[in-house]
Amino acid sequence: MDYKDTLILPKTKFPMRGNLPNKEPERRKQWEEEGLYAKDMERTKDRPMYVLHDGPPFANGDLHIGHALNKILKDFITRYKSMTGYYAPFVPGWDTHGLPIETALTTTKKIDRNKVSVAEFRQLCADYAMEQIDNQRNQFKELGVRGNWDDPYITLTKEYEAAQIRVFGEMAKQGYIYKGLRPVHWSPSSESALAEAEIEYQDKRSPSIYVAFEVTDGKDLLNDGEKFIIWTTTPWTIPANLGISLHPDLQYLVVAVEDDKYVIAEDLLEDVSEKLAWVDPKVVKTFRGQEADRIVAKHPFYDRDSLVMLGDHVTIDAGTGCVHTAPGHGEEDFYICREYGIEPLSPVNDKGVLTEDAPGFEGLFYDSANKPITEKLEEVGALLDLEFITHSYPHDWRTKKPTIIRATAQWFASIKDFRDNIIDSIKEVNWYPKWGETRIHNMFADREDWCISRQRVWGVPIPVFYEENGEPIITDETIEHVARLFNEHGSNIWFEWDAKDLLPEGFTSEHSPKGEFTKETDIMDVWFDSGSSHEAVLNTRDDQQRPADVYIEGSDQYRGWFNSSLTTSVAVSGEAPYKNVISHGMVLDGKGTKMSKSIGNVVEPKKILQQMGADILRLWVSSVDYQSDVRISDDILRQVSESYRKVRNTFRFMLGNLADFNPAEDRVAVEELQEFDKYMLHQLQQLIDKVRKAYESYDYSTVYHAIHDYCSIDLSSFYLDFAKDVLYIEAKNNVRRRSIQTVIYESALAIAKMLTPIIPHTTEEIWSHIPGEKEEWIQLSDIPSSYDVYEDESELEKWDHFMKVRADVLKALEEAREEKVIGNSLEAHLTIAAKDEYTKEVLETIPYLHQMLIVSDASLVDPSEELKDYNYVQLAVAFCPGEKCERCWVVSETVGDNENHPTICTRCAEVVEEHYSHL
Ligand SMILES: [Zn+2]
Repeated sequence: MDYKDTLILPKTKFPMRGNLPNKEPERRKQWEEEGLYAKDMERTKDRPMYVLHDGPPFANGDLHIGHALNKILKDFITRYKSMTGYYAPFVPGWDTHGLPIETALTTTKKIDRNKVSVAEFRQLCADYAMEQIDNQRNQFKELGVRGNWDDPYITLTKEYEAAQIRVFGEMAKQGYIYKGLRPVHWSPSSESALAEAEIEYQDKRSPSIYVAFEVTDGKDLLNDGEKFIIWTTTPWTIPANLGISLHPDLQYLVVAVEDDKYVIAEDLLEDVSEKLAWVDPKVVKTFRGQEADRIVAKHPFYDRDSLVMLGDHVTIDAGTGCVHTAPGHGEEDFYICREYGIEPLSPVNDKGVLTEDAPGFEGLFYDSANKPITEKLEEVGALLDLEFITHSYPHDWRTKKPTIIRATAQWFASIKDFRDNIIDSIKEVNWYPKWGETRIHNMFADREDWCISRQRVWGVPIPVFYEENGEPIITDETIEHVARLFNEHGSNIWFEWDAKDLLPEGFTSEHSPKGEFTKETDIMDVWFDSGSSHEAVLNTRDDQQRPADVYIEGSDQYRGWFNSSLTTSVAVSGEAPYKNVISHGMVLDGKGTKMSKSIGNVVEPKKILQQMGADILRLWVSSVDYQSDVRISDDILRQVSESYRKVRNTFRFMLGNLADFNPAEDRVAVEELQEFDKYMLHQLQQLIDKVRKAYESYDYSTVYHAIHDYCSIDLSSFYLDFAKDVLYIEAKNNVRRRSIQTVIYESALAIAKMLTPIIPHTTEEIWSHIPGEKEEWIQLSDIPSSYDVYEDESELEKWDHFMKVRADVLKALEEAREEKVIGNSLEAHLTIAAKDEYTKEVLETIPYLHQMLIVSDASLVDPSEELKDYNYVQLAVAFCPGEKCERCWVVSETVGDNENHPTICTRCAEVVEEHYSHL
């Protein structure tokens, strides 16, 4: 008789290899045809709503790995919530306005701006953005990201723009919007103001000059003719100088050098002496900065005062401690001058050319003005030193040309008017990681205002009209009218229609009694667009609500979307738009280097999908500590694939052993489970607890590691290994066998569900191989909650203790193998003596002790000196007497006892005689 036919070996069609790149697209097609997302929303619609609000990616170009990380994390969250008691719709969004699209049209699409009207150009921008959205949408779907892809939110839609206009109107109504002169980053090459985010730093060669300013009114502290020394690398701003800033708490010196006396900070004496080649400078006076408040010096070549002011922005990092202050060309300069009631002077036009307010230099490009200005300083004897330095300097990210700081008329949201509310609302939000709170707090702590106007065309117009005398008009009536018009026609009408057609019929005002108005031509900062999504999306759609439960974006968004959303939300609703904010890091290459095309280390999501599959990419996302910068490389992905294979094989084994299991009939009730199976069921509950807690705190690497370890350690290398001896050997309906199958079945169900938010393609495949009645799709099921397996905790304690004894046994077996006493553990006969009463009690009550330890025999004895000492027991491992059973491979002295079956043990012979006599 071939005893192989009497074994119940695993049988399953679930393949060993995932073949994901080929199978996943078919699977997603099926999901789409089935409308699984809509079905799940229908299934969960009566549950509490959980809103993850999508930060809109910019609609331009293919997805990079950072997009993939971001959207996959979002998918983990919404899928998990949907499977644990919530209605968690995902509404994807796109950000569509802004310079990169204008640039793409003029460069990639070769549109000549001079040949099309503004409105036509804007329509081309819109068409382009919609194409880009289609492309990105397909790529997001390929990642397995689930959501309402047919009805996303898009910032260029009429409804969105109308909502944004209302946000602006509400802020204006509260008095937060104003027009003012203020220094901003200005790009002469684009003739536009730039946002901080549009600035990049590059090296630039600049003149570095030291200039003397003569005191004309020294109060009681200084004498006329003594000179402050300032240092600057922008000589072209000297015509705009209106003051000199000192730090109130720094020590300053009056130093005599030959016939002159100079004022500098004490800490910089050495540096300045060296720079200006002073020989033997003599300190004639020492004073604190605050004593010099409002001392008056004179401009080196204009007949104008330069006032000494005190400010904390003065440092001793470089220069002289006396800071050249030109409020039209520096933010700190601007604020300090405002405190002293000095209006900014900015004698530079849009093109970067000096104006008639810089007499003697008008008509010169700022950079070309450096030389004549320096020469003028030399001519009047104010230039103490000139050299050239290369330093990091702001450039326009698009034109790559240097930018300047320049005061221009801009629209602002006055942050300081509601800054306290913002800061309070920050405290109400949970920030992950914790430092996020400090980062965002610091962004607002000193912030005065937000420049929201841009001198471009592809964006939402600033809905302001001007009366005949130039006074701006923003009223509830005009805002609502514009919002309604935009809602109906889109914002392009702003550029197509006359002002009077954009105003309510017959609208007049004090300074425009005949209804003659002009309109603003600036558009809004794109951050105002996406920052209004809480109103345009959360507060508008039926499947959303404000505040959202969570925003999750890259850590650059503390200055971006987290920031602009918080600002407009607090302004219009009085609270933050989110309850939880999570930030993730950047994706770096395997060595921790930033990815760049020029280095050639860019890892493209598309390639990973084609070579390994979306589930591998998704599993990688779950494996990393995403709140810091993360790494990806072929090696790292190979390791992830290895873990994937381990988990997959564990499932294959489980499914194989459930081939003859019908849960409706064969499932064993918890209280009737074999003791150890019950213990494993308890372990499974522990895992469920741990995994759910980790999901709740957005900690996916714990989910990944917990499940991976459970599959490879608890299940594969222990439970399933031990279970083989029952599953394969015993008769089909044997109660111990059914007990084990019950636990395997429960484990397969629970683990597959817990993995579904992470690797849905794979778990859906697993699902189709799990026997019994169940939901049609695992995605339409719920993740189980844990429950108490034990009524009596002493049984749990006993098995916990047994696991400690088992560790001793494993160690002893390993030693025996090394000493060549045995080969595999089934050749071992153990002699065990408990070292204490409790251990003894435990060991005496373990059923099938030798099977539990995966050895052929185990005898319990009293302690003796012949046994080796371990933590809880004394042990001896011997080669088991007897012969190896042909059927179960256990070494037993009973082999041969049964005359009909002389090559198998008596236990096997019984099974064979009872169940396989027909063979
Ligand atoms: Zn046997």
